Amino acid sequence: TQILNIIGGGMAGSEAAWQAANAGLQVIMHEMRPKVETFAHRTGHLGEMVCSNSFRSDDHEQNAVGLLHWEMLQADGLIMKTAYKHRLPAGGALAVDRDPFAQSVTAALTAHPNIRIVYDEVTTLPDDGHWIIATGPLTSGALADAIKAETGAEALAFFDAIAPIVYHDSIDMDVAWMQSRYDKGATEAERTAYLNCPMTKDQYEAFIDALLAADKTAFKEGETAGYFDGCLPIEVMAERGRETLRFGPMKPVGLTNAHQPDQKPYAVVQLRRDNALGTLFNIVGFQTKMKYAAQKSVFKMIPGLQDAEFARLGGIHRNTFLNAPTLLDDQMRLRSRPNIRFAGQITGVEGYVESAAMGLLAGRMAVAELTGRALPPVPNTTAMGALVTHITGGADAKTFQPMNVNFGLFPPLEGVKSGRRGRKERYKAYTDRAKIDWSAWLEQMLLDAA
Ligand code: FAD
Repeated sequence: TQILNIIGGGMAGSEAAWQAANAGLQVIMHEMRPKVETFAHRTGHLGEMVCSNSFRSDDHEQNAVGLLHWEMLQADGLIMKTAYKHRLPAGGALAVDRDPFAQSVTAALTAHPNIRIVYDEVTTLPDDGHWIIATGPLTSGALADAIKAETGAEALAFFDAIAPIVYHDSIDMDVAWMQSRYDKGATEAERTAYLNCPMTKDQYEAFIDALLAADKTAFKEGETAGYFDGCLPIEVMAERGRETLRFGPMKPVGLTNAHQPDQKPYAVVQLRRDNALGTLFNIVGFQTKMKYAAQKSVFKMIPGLQDAEFARLGGIHRNTFLNAPTLLDDQMRLRSRPNIRFAGQITGVEGYVESAAMGLLAGRMAVAELTGRALPPVPNTTAMGALVTHITGGADAKTFQPMNVNFGLFPPLEGVKSGRRGRKERYKAYTDRAKIDWSAWLEQMLLDAA
């Protein structure tokens, strides 16, 4: 039998081990805790939830995370099955009792006849054998250095500085206009990559006041090591002076308001296309530590974004992640060392659910490879497929930042209503399509294995 080594027993590594071991591979899992600690984990359990105890929405009909729950359940996902076993009442969300949850994950993996767990830190990149690296946002320093030596420093980030991402169809194009600064750009795609929202002096001053007054999250102890000036939160820039943003990300130069060409805006907020589909736009330079509710109300003050729907809100966190679009192939293997796969948050997804999901896929991909079977391509109409397609190719490598699953990543459907009004119907249609395609994909794998 073939041996698969997995580094990291968090959300992704635990799920990858479960999938691979159930398919008959011998799995050796390397987990550094409790010997070596991180600033966020508290226990030595596998599958520990480091912060909130929520797997977010459990709506399997109209929500992208809920759909991911469903897809993982269909694939016998350990993390999801165990989450349901230890579910706490929380309305539409899947909240879990974190300690029994992690104990249960640990017990299931420890008892598995095909899994051996080694409690030790891995500090170098393995030269041979088959490996999955799932060491997460808090990958140990020694291993991060080894990865950096392989990928180059610019391709491994230690912080995410996430600007909010808005659904294109929720932006008011009677107010915003498309234009790149100084009309720069060699190609049509480059020239149409930016949308602009104009502000008058009064609007700008009110916006600065709101930024200064907004509720913010503090950095955790130990989190800011290595934090640098290049990704200052916008509210910190505003604190440095009321004009700082007008001379920074909100500078009004090189742009002409297409709706009012004779009126020079006092400040301009720019949004940049965030995916090849053009369904998502990020607000340029707007990384922030404002709380989510505050972000929504402050960003809706921007003319053109008054009805904005957010695919994800902004944040700044300690987070080790790869520039996956350039480094990984579509099987999540390191192009320069294809015996190593990556999974989980380090691949540039964000969240417990997404990380576990990428662990599930990496586990299945490893099984296919080690048993010499061709894996049918993961349909990009499913939540799993949309995510993996995004990180391994759909996202813009130059501005790559970690991503949550959301319907903006799904290929558009013909014949469904666009815009805010059609949203429920559209999400239901995306979900229905995904369920059919995911079931067919799983069934194909069963047939191939038989
Ligand atoms: P992890 O779950 O972190 O697992 C990685 C494992 O690898 C760990 O067990 C670690 O000990 C081990 N490891 C690291 N280096 C080595 C090494 N060299 N050798 C051996 N083992 C190693 N997501 C949410 O959905 N909700 C939240 O509320 C949330 N809060 C967060 C708060 C913080 C402070 C951080 C850092 C992240 C948070 N996240 C949250 C993101 C969350 O970490 C991920 O979603 C998820 O845990 C990542 O799964 P993973 O398997 O990729 O990494």
